[in-house]
Amino acid sequence: MHKKLEGKRVRIKAKGKIFEGIVMPSFTGNFVLKLDNGYNVGFKEYELVEVLEVEPFKPQLPELVKKEGLPDIKIISTGGTIASKVDYRTGAVTSQFTAEEIASEVPELTEVCNVDAELLYNILSENMKPDNWIELARHVYKALKDHEGVIITHGTDTMHFSAAALSFMLSTPKPVVFVGAQRSSDRPSSDAAMNLLCAAKAATEDIGEVTVCMHGSTSDDFCYVHRGVKVRKNHTSRRDAFQSVNAKPIAKIDYPSLGVEWLSWRYHRGERDLKLADRLERKVVLIKFFPGLSSDILDYYHSKGYRGFVIEGTGLGHVSTDWIDTLRKVCEDSVVVMTSQCLWGRVCDRVYDTGRDILRAGVIEGEDMLPEVALIKLMWLLGNYSVKESKEMVKRNLVGEIEPTTQY
Ligand code: GLU
Repeated sequence: MHKKLEGKRVRIKAKGKIFEGIVMPSFTGNFVLKLDNGYNVGFKEYELVEVLEVEPFKPQLPELVKKEGLPDIKIISTGGTIASKVDYRTGAVTSQFTAEEIASEVPELTEVCNVDAELLYNILSENMKPDNWIELARHVYKALKDHEGVIITHGTDTMHFSAAALSFMLSTPKPVVFVGAQRSSDRPSSDAAMNLLCAAKAATEDIGEVTVCMHGSTSDDFCYVHRGVKVRKNHTSRRDAFQSVNAKPIAKIDYPSLGVEWLSWRYHRGERDLKLADRLERKVVLIKFFPGLSSDILDYYHSKGYRGFVIEGTGLGHVSTDWIDTLRKVCEDSVVVMTSQCLWGRVCDRVYDTGRDILRAGVIEGEDMLPEVALIKLMWLLGNYSVKESKEMVKRNLVGEIEPTTQY
């Protein structure tokens, strides 16, 4: 019954009152209505009063005229909260995310750039897979040939994984900017439009790398542009959930002026040639150590053919002494990188005995790399190089993932 009504405007009776709204997909078994104020309300029991006939939603779309002097920017949509308004208002995934649709949602965009658009996916980012990163990288590579920059709209949960994946796969002389939203655009507190505008500004600057542009504070006053290999989602719901870890953000973009303040000089300008190296090894794993975890977990993955291991160790980069023998065995034919679950700071296994044993077993210190970034770096290295070469290359800073000195 719910399924058949999805996307329809209905009037129901529940809790002694009449409610009107659009029937939403529900995964809990409750009947969920999106009310006109933008909020979703779930009902266990209800009585259907009426299915309302409504004119199919036809937005008034602006005609886009290319403006001389403004850069051409391509927006590639992949889904997530930033894409959710159009779905919910029509009650179905009917939007094609055309340039006209996007410009009608955020008209100020047309003052910053000439918008071109492509709908690649409409998926929640927890459903992204390495295959999607590869397909996305190919689409971005193609778009960069005839645009000044590319914006990728993306669900925020795994946006930093995708940004890291593209950072390794793509060498770019032009900006590639990931952007998302913590609140959908049908909510008054949405951050979608501001993030998108700031991302458009970032996409027109001389930044030759993959970045993430998101709210910098809990107010609507500025966004940060983060390096794709130094950024992480660090809060479940705050607008300023994304932070640069062990690095400064590249820039701050004020809102609404869109004035740019440069915060770091450590990023690529337009000096690199456009190149794509899109092979990724899937048999790479990230293991979070906790007190009492058995090293059998290493044996298990090793026996399944995994040759890339990233460990999220404690503190400076430790695991239990009980792990040393297994580590020594696994390191013989695999790359094992130690990162820290502290996230902030640098791994150093030369301070304590356990650390020195870990190094003697053949484990490589991941410096100040984020665990997820080390994981993707290993996927990329093992996809393109031998285990021996990968062991050497993982220590080197390839695209900004390792800072030479510890920040903060
Ligand atoms: N979990 C979803 C995703 O990451 C929605 C959250 C969001 O877009 O922020 O795609």
